[in-house]
Amino acid sequence: MARKFLVLGEVRDGSLRNVSFEAIGAAKLAADGGEIVGVLVGDSVQDLGNELIQFGADRVVAVENDQLKQYTSDGYAQALLAVIEQEKPEGIFFGHTALGKDLAPKLAGKLESGLISDVTSIEEEGGNIVFTRPIYSGKAFEKKIVTDGVIFATIRPNNIEPLAKDESRSGDVAALSVDIKDLRTIIKDVVRKASEGVDLSEAKVIIAGGRGVKSEDGFEPLKELAQVLGGAVGASRGACDADYCDYSLQIGQTGKVVTPDLYIACGISGAIQHLAGMSNSKVIVAINKDPEANIFNVADYGIVGDLFEVIPLLTEEFKKL
Ligand code: FAD
Repeated sequence: MARKFLVLGEVRDGSLRNVSFEAIGAAKLAADGGEIVGVLVGDSVQDLGNELIQFGADRVVAVENDQLKQYTSDGYAQALLAVIEQEKPEGIFFGHTALGKDLAPKLAGKLESGLISDVTSIEEEGGNIVFTRPIYSGKAFEKKIVTDGVIFATIRPNNIEPLAKDESRSGDVAALSVDIKDLRTIIKDVVRKASEGVDLSEAKVIIAGGRGVKSEDGFEPLKELAQVLGGAVGASRGACDADYCDYSLQIGQTGKVVTPDLYIACGISGAIQHLAGMSNSKVIVAINKDPEANIFNVADYGIVGDLFEVIPLLTEEFKKL
């Protein structure tokens, strides 16, 4: 049964985040041949509409307003409610990002609709759209359907394949004017921590360090390997607690959940709380000098050895490719 879905295109620093294209891929699975409408919200976003279309949206609605320059849940909710009112979709998909996790439940609550968060796959079963999501920190999966109202879903990054970009696709990018009022929060300024390289939550390759890295300087060989592989550096909480790196790098139950194609765990023991954030990575390589370390139980490839000897060797070999 063909259904119409909206997909929020998430913009960061003037560019669309990859997870927006993955959310279009997810919406295609749910729409069963129906229409996919991309939605853009911000102060100057309309120009990005074509990119959403090239990744599979049929057309785009853009809400531009000075008050939407910075993200506030209040402002974005007003914009999206107006789009939902105009389009009357079956559902709306977001990336499972800080923004999506904040906005989707707010809208679902306002419309008294169901929300399925952290979706990793979508199938059609007996006329229902069945969403799969991890539970118990990734140790099990549950399948869910929404029985009433607009379907709200957040899509886990790096799980559902985006459609291939097709530059020949074209479609309508229409502006929708929305009067944004009574904002309860006004963001005056955003001060970002300087971050190097690839965004951790969307990285295809992650080199993560644990307490075995031993110091802030101990992360240098990991950074070099990450640079050679075009990846990002992550960390265990052990490394963050020891002040070897910033908490923004923490992966796990109380950190980021990542699903890269390749995860290289260096000097990480494999505590259950760490595994909660990375065990769904496609290929896991563990480097640890303790052959009994729990990380080897989830690793596809294990290297028993000193990370300060193994990592430079790997870096040299990868440089040759
Ligand atoms: P360790 O357990 O100390 O392991 C260090 C490893 O390095 C050892 O296996 C050792 O053999 C190896 N090693 C040492 N030197 C070398 C060397 N030269 N070469 C190779 N290997 C070497 N942890 C997280 O990571 N993420 C979370 O989100 C998280 N949330 C938590 C939430 C709660 C409520 C609690 C209670 C804990 C949480 N933890 C989390 C902490 C978790 O339980 C572990 O303490 C932590 O993951 C351990 O970090 P680690 O593996 O770096 O350190």
